[in-house]
Amino acid sequence: MIQLIRGFRDILPGDVGLWQHIERTAIDLFRAFGFHEIRIPIMEKTELFARSIGDTTDIVEKEMYTFPDRKGDLITLRPEATASIVRSYIQHKLYAQDPVRKFYMVGPMFRRERPQKGRYRQFYQIDVEIFGVMSPLADVQLIYLLHVLFDRLAVPDTQAHINSLGCPECRRGYRRVLVDYLNTVADRLCADCRRRKDTNPLRVLDCKVPRCREALTGAPSILDSLCDDCRQDFDTVQEHLTRLEIPYAVDERLVRGLDYYNRTTFEMQTGLLGAQSAVAGGGRYDGLIEMLGGPSLPATGFAIGLDRLVDVCGLEGSRYYKSPDLFIAALGEASQKLAFEWVCDLGIRGIQAEVDYQNRSLKSQMKQAGRHRARHALIVGDSELSQGTAILRDMTSKEQVDIPLDGIVDTLLQRLNEDK
Ligand code: ATP
Ligand code: MG
Repeated sequence: MIQLIRGFRDILPGDVGLWQHIERTAIDLFRAFGFHEIRIPIMEKTELFARSIGDTTDIVEKEMYTFPDRKGDLITLRPEATASIVRSYIQHKLYAQDPVRKFYMVGPMFRRERPQKGRYRQFYQIDVEIFGVMSPLADVQLIYLLHVLFDRLAVPDTQAHINSLGCPECRRGYRRVLVDYLNTVADRLCADCRRRKDTNPLRVLDCKVPRCREALTGAPSILDSLCDDCRQDFDTVQEHLTRLEIPYAVDERLVRGLDYYNRTTFEMQTGLLGAQSAVAGGGRYDGLIEMLGGPSLPATGFAIGLDRLVDVCGLEGSRYYKSPDLFIAALGEASQKLAFEWVCDLGIRGIQAEVDYQNRSLKSQMKQAGRHRARHALIVGDSELSQGTAILRDMTSKEQVDIPLDGIVDTLLQRLNEDK
């Protein structure tokens, strides 16, 4: 038997209800704040990701699913959404009328990492972007949206972590003092970080290996390297987070894995997922639109890891599995014909009814109603037909009432809707 690919997974019907609920809750919230959905392709030219995410990042160095198509052009399964949304914004000149555009998208991403709990090779993200706004209030709004969403989904034990990466100028200065420091502790770093120290030193701050974390306890803080403008920008973010009563922690080690970030970066972290503590992450990336060939416009955004959000949300998954409102146990050919029509009539009016098509005994049909977790059962056979009634049974209370066949669909609609 053929099994699925390692790191990939099926989301089965019993779990999908919760996924849909989370997606709907997120989308309703984003729409209420003026974000519009954009759908982007699952594959892009490899160059798009290599250029935007950065050659020395984990994603580009070792995690991308890249292969030549039949003509030899290199294409990549998207590892994230931002690069494609920026490409689309530039390609369709979406900035022409008004550079301020707000987007969201939901869909799968692909990264070839070591699979473990909360880490898959195909995973899902909800991605949100604001283009064209320089004000740090855009960053605050994004963090606020995450805060509200996590609250609506009853996610326990989460906190916003924020940091500022400054502008390219501040970063250059910081890079120098950081590399000086890293050189003094080089022998205590993991092999990856000894290499990163020269290629992408900021990334060392993000290393999860315990000995690296230890070696970094005395590392200089990027916040000490911020220029006046960047410092003020970060102060404004904090002032507004406080005014909105959003709990947050400043985490000067938070650099995130991609090259394109500047100024405010943030993550929503949870204590529930071990090393996979980031449920969402994002920040500002003011240089990316121009770097990919567009006008010089600022941008900020975040991505939520939907797989992780499903794992940590405080909602009961089984509540979102839709059980039938009614199971019709029809005995005999005449009843079955009627039952089939009622199912159709009820279905188009929004009542989910099921019927057994196999002409089984009353006992086994009632068992089936139980297995389906139907809220009600309707029993109808030849003797009920001759009396012009059917029996409606509440499967929880076991109460039964006779209801007339005449106008039965309307009666059922009324009773079942009352019960919902
Ligand atoms: P991590 O540090 O956990 O690897 P990341 O910084 O690589 O995360 P981002 O690129 O910021 O992740 O993506 C945003 C979110 O997507 C993450 O916060 C996480 O919730 C989720 N995510 C990232 N990679 C995976 C994966 N392989 N499987 C499941 N979710 C993921
Ligand atoms: Mg990662």
